[in-house]
Amino acid sequence: MKNILDTRIMTVDLEPDLRSKNCKSIELVLPKLLEFFDQQNIKATFFTVTSLLEKYESEIKEIAKKHEIASHSHTHSWLNKNNAEYEISQSKKILEEHNLKCFGFRAPKFITTKNHFSLLRKYNYQYDSSFTNKTFQINTINNISSFRFPSPSSGLSYRKLLHPISKFFPQSKLFYLHPWEFLKKSDLPKATSLTPLLLKRNSGKKAWNLFQNIILRHPHKWISCKEYLTIINNK
Ligand SMILES: [Zn+2]
Repeated sequence: MKNILDTRIMTVDLEPDLRSKNCKSIELVLPKLLEFFDQQNIKATFFTVTSLLEKYESEIKEIAKKHEIASHSHTHSWLNKNNAEYEISQSKKILEEHNLKCFGFRAPKFITTKNHFSLLRKYNYQYDSSFTNKTFQINTINNISSFRFPSPSSGLSYRKLLHPISKFFPQSKLFYLHPWEFLKKSDLPKATSLTPLLLKRNSGKKAWNLFQNIILRHPHKWISCKEYLTIINNK
């Protein structure tokens, strides 16, 4: 059994670029990211917006050869009481129709509804990695608050935004990033409000350097959510 203290969980949200309909990051960034993961022997969970399968089936199947694919909803709409069941069920159905096993879910913008866990149970998910109770966690469905992770250090978005102060953030158990964070500013869609504008800070090459520093400085074993749960459950 691997030593659980040495392992970290790598997660990627595979979605259109910065709240737009563009997907330049899938063409321009994804191959480079997969190559880097290969070089560093990193296994990740790709929380995937499943409507992307229409256009990017071969890319997503390529990811699935080495990494875990999980659901990041079907359309990346923020969940509410009207759409949550559709987004949770449809994404799993689409993945399974493409012969991709799906165990986990992460809500867009980490926003969940009151019946989030009962919906996940209903559609046979095994874990959730959404932002709840102001902490990041991988929740096993039956044991909801087992694994909690501090938030600001968990995401490349925060590290970019708060660079260079973020250098001093502690390393968290789980890390998440979006391929579009590595796009050059000129390849990113125009920001129409303040949040996307802030999210553009330190994009492109700077984001790569930040991310590579985090990985290369700390020689952890990076694994997927599913692998992590397997270790936990076999303990
Ligand atoms: Zn997202």
